[in-house]
Amino acid sequence: MDDYTPYPSGLILTARRVLVVGGGHVAQRRIPALIAAGADVHVVSPEVTPAIEGLVGSGEVTWHRRRFAPLDLDGAWYALATTDDPEVNAQVCAAAEADRIFCVRADDARGGTAWTPAVGRHAGVTVAVLGNRDPRRSAGVRDEVLEGLREGTIAARHQRDHTPGVVLVGGGPGDPELMSVAGRKALMEADVVVADRLAPRELLGELPADVELIDVAKLPRGRSAQQEEINRVIVERALAGKRVVRFKGGDNFVFGRGYEEVLACRAAGVPVTVVPGLTSPVAVPAVAGIPVTHRGVAHEFTVISGHLPPGHPESLTNWAAVGGLSGTLVLMMAVQNAPAIAAALVAGGRDADTPVAVVCDGTMPGQRTVLATLATLGDELAAQDVKPPAIIVVGGVVAVAHPERFERV
Ligand code: SAH
Repeated sequence: MDDYTPYPSGLILTARRVLVVGGGHVAQRRIPALIAAGADVHVVSPEVTPAIEGLVGSGEVTWHRRRFAPLDLDGAWYALATTDDPEVNAQVCAAAEADRIFCVRADDARGGTAWTPAVGRHAGVTVAVLGNRDPRRSAGVRDEVLEGLREGTIAARHQRDHTPGVVLVGGGPGDPELMSVAGRKALMEADVVVADRLAPRELLGELPADVELIDVAKLPRGRSAQQEEINRVIVERALAGKRVVRFKGGDNFVFGRGYEEVLACRAAGVPVTVVPGLTSPVAVPAVAGIPVTHRGVAHEFTVISGHLPPGHPESLTNWAAVGGLSGTLVLMMAVQNAPAIAAALVAGGRDADTPVAVVCDGTMPGQRTVLATLATLGDELAAQDVKPPAIIVVGGVVAVAHPERFERV
């Protein structure tokens, strides 16, 4: 027979013994889903990969350090033959067949009695695709279906989670692809979305039409007025039974005033949860090719807000002490005060030749990097007409990433 017609079925493996023969990369790829399903996973193999060994160490799987013997199937409900030896795999499948245990054969799907589909999940729906011997095709179809569900082009009438409350969702540095799956899910389940200027705005266009979108940029200005209004709105909507997403760029707790919103919700008795986001002081340099740490170069990275100039009465930063640090400094909201900050760092002891990279509009179409040193930073920012949002990275890691421009320091 050329084609089998598999019968799809969702197995409930909770606390049921599953035998995995082989401890290599195929096993390593399959085991997490078994663990996630709550299975009692037993691995039989003389050797396992370090990742599987880690799962053994944490008690998530049991490892029998030896070669397969048919007795290993005792008590098993399901088996996977994943070794790189076709003979062993055939032996496992034959023994499983005799015991009437369904068995996946990784090297030759048709030699087994069960196939592993390409799996994905979205908003409580599991998508499993069997591509009849073409794993790339099944993975491709799965990805298309998931994307359709996420983007709403496949109108799944899934049950939205309508528990009232507030979810703080970090949208990542700007590119919508860099937002977490949990964040997207929360967005799609929202009745009300309160969005910031720096949140990945393209995603807002995907929201169902009945979602109320509140644009913070349009709320009254002023340092505390705006935040008070946000607190008031999220609490009021949640108390009215709505599911509210507070949607920000990066991570809500990194210079995002997120915790003030948590406190406001708590004070009003509104349930509040948090979906972290990729924060720009780490993600933006990374996308621009600059690591915030590098062995032998920086054993620390310090993230500082530059929204107040050094010496400002409300500043909580000891810039002279920061100037004495030798690791990576990541400055945020610092474009305007950069010349004063650079001068304060040099006054505090940092070398004026320390390399600096300014990454503007990180992860967005206009992303660019301007290179300078602490001595030339102010001039470069003016010459290159740098505008926020920008991340300023100071330290030897910039030289590591740009050896064409800097000598290693
Ligand atoms: N909560 C956000 C930061 C908010 S403060 C986070 O976790 O990333 C705003 C500052 O973040 C900006 O002034 C800029 O310094 C930085 N920033 C955020 N997104 C950025 C981006 N895409 N490119 C460059 N800088 C960015």
